[in-house]
Amino acid sequence: MKRVMTKILNLPGVIVEDSKETAETLILSVRVEKKTGACPRCGRISHRLHQNKGHLVRDLPIGGREVILKVNRRRFKCENCQKPFSETLDFVGNKKSFTYRYAQSVTEQVIHSDVSNVAKNNGLTEEEVWSMVISVAKKVIPINVENLKILGIDEISLVKGQGKIIVVLVDLESHKLLGLVPSRTQSQIEKVMRQWGGKVLSQIEEVSMDMTGNYKSLVQKMCQNAQVTVDND
Ligand SMILES: [Zn+2]
Repeated sequence: MKRVMTKILNLPGVIVEDSKETAETLILSVRVEKKTGACPRCGRISHRLHQNKGHLVRDLPIGGREVILKVNRRRFKCENCQKPFSETLDFVGNKKSFTYRYAQSVTEQVIHSDVSNVAKNNGLTEEEVWSMVISVAKKVIPINVENLKILGIDEISLVKGQGKIIVVLVDLESHKLLGLVPSRTQSQIEKVMRQWGGKVLSQIEEVSMDMTGNYKSLVQKMCQNAQVTVDND
């Protein structure tokens, strides 16, 4: 059973030790396969377990049920620094109550819908949804822009929070997310697009914006071969 649940969870390096279920929720107690932790100060690998610290993390739903992981973020003691540290986990950020992949999935839903609907559909508050979007925006998204030809620029916002806006860059052919910019300033958007390189920027044929056309002049400057369309509906 444990092995089956571990396979179903499909989180690399994570083993399910126990599971409990209710009609709506699956609670999985998990442990990390790795027996050591790397000190964030000096990088030394430590085997000396100092303390166990459990916390709850929300993950992708399984079979229509919400999934809560009981995670043990261990504290090790570094023999070099003589100080304890919390291990870094690959699937959940420090002090975060959701896995990276769950935040990614929620963010993709927001891009195709809006914050308040996604909150409702996932049983989350709007603030929780927003904090996931922010955390994804802060993480560097590994992307392949090699074949980018049609770029979409959109904005998502938290209705309740005045001025909370994120700019979304999407490949409109593959529907892949290319970037999230947690600020409306042109220079920040320019910075993200510059990282794609001159070859990609010059091969973009079409840019579509679903708003007031705030970034029209920026895009015309950066993508010289692109036709820019602004959709005002
Ligand atoms: Zn150390």
